[in-house]
Amino acid sequence: MYKTLQAKIGRRSFLKMLAVGAGVGATSAFASNSGITRSATKEEIKNPFPGSKMVKTICTACSVGCGILAEVQNGVWVRQEVAQDHPISRGGHCCKGADMIDMIKSKVRLKHPMVKTKGQWKRISWEEAFTGISAKMNAQRNKFGADTAMFLGSAKMSTEQAYYFRKFSAMYGTNNIDHQARI
Ligand code: SF4
Repeated sequence: MYKTLQAKIGRRSFLKMLAVGAGVGATSAFASNSGITRSATKEEIKNPFPGSKMVKTICTACSVGCGILAEVQNGVWVRQEVAQDHPISRGGHCCKGADMIDMIKSKVRLKHPMVKTKGQWKRISWEEAFTGISAKMNAQRNKFGADTAMFLGSAKMSTEQAYYFRKFSAMYGTNNIDHQARI
């Protein structure tokens, strides 16, 4: 068997693999025999989230769309794993994706439109937010012209969202539009 393998992958690579394999085997045996490592106890491998299920999803922090395995219990995202079999990221992602669950569960996450009046933040409705923002944008355009505005896209945008963003900028009346990648 060794000779067949050696013929397939080349002698030098074969010897290197043997050396690495022997090293890993020796290290594991040493760690185990000397008490550095041990088998996990039943308590340690018990799932702290009984009844949870793994849901395949993607990171939304940029358009790469790396794979994430979300562990969900009673409709709540409780733990995160890397999706090893994802065809794009293949088990890897950046620090933003690794922290995705914290971004979702963060206590300081903004969940509603807020407005600051006289130094105090106050929750407002989406309707009030849309009306207020569009009134300010129109006032800006009427007073100074559309080209005094700049539209800056997001790395989170999908192709379709980028299309609508471009349309929105054109309807406002300016070509001042750019992409935002990792700023
Ligand atoms: S932010 Fe990072 S993990 Fe998320 S999709 Fe982009 S590259 Fe992948």
